[in-house]
Amino acid sequence: MKSKLNTDQYWFVAFLVLPLISAMQFGDAYTTDKGMKVLYSGLAGLVAGALGVAGYYFTSKRSVTVRVVVLVVLVIGLALPTILMPQSGQVMSKDGIVYSTCPVCGYIAFNAQEKHCDNCGEELTEEEMHKNGLTSLDSMIRMGQLYQFIPEDEKAAVSFEQPAVSEDGYTLDKSWRPSVTKAEVEKEALQYYENRRTHHVKVEIIKKEQK
Ligand SMILES: [Zn+2]
Repeated sequence: MKSKLNTDQYWFVAFLVLPLISAMQFGDAYTTDKGMKVLYSGLAGLVAGALGVAGYYFTSKRSVTVRVVVLVVLVIGLALPTILMPQSGQVMSKDGIVYSTCPVCGYIAFNAQEKHCDNCGEELTEEEMHKNGLTSLDSMIRMGQLYQFIPEDEKAAVSFEQPAVSEDGYTLDKSWRPSVTKAEVEKEALQYYENRRTHHVKVEIIKKEQK
């Protein structure tokens, strides 16, 4: 009797937790907005929890095979909205903007319609390209990356490591890789620090204006 109770408890936990885990990825994949993420994941979690408990009770008198099948169907079914999301790597913000991966910073924050990244602020338009005296989009991306990865602190080593979620709440596309090398960034950094020393006052003013 005691062992049956224990097995039942395991089943209950499995029916509650597995669909929950499966469903709660939804918010993460669907929106970049932190608050909405919690809301979507919470709602998905409620549905999953209810379905899980229902699944547990409906199959309580059934064989182990039936229970496993129902559980697997629940887990897969609840993961489907996340898997079937329109083109992975694209998410929608609270305002309905579709974001794709920014080629410069790697965060899913690039507004393809406006050709502007809401995370790093890079603007990838032909106009910007000509303004900077560049001839290709690729050189613009490389240029943006060179500056992006220069450490503010002169003594810090160049690193391509970035947090999974940016300060502004955008998600890093894990498959993204920078097109510049660390050596190229280091070279650019020397120049940057040199300029910063010579035009120290100017840099300070620009920084203040941005705030
Ligand atoms: Zn960016």
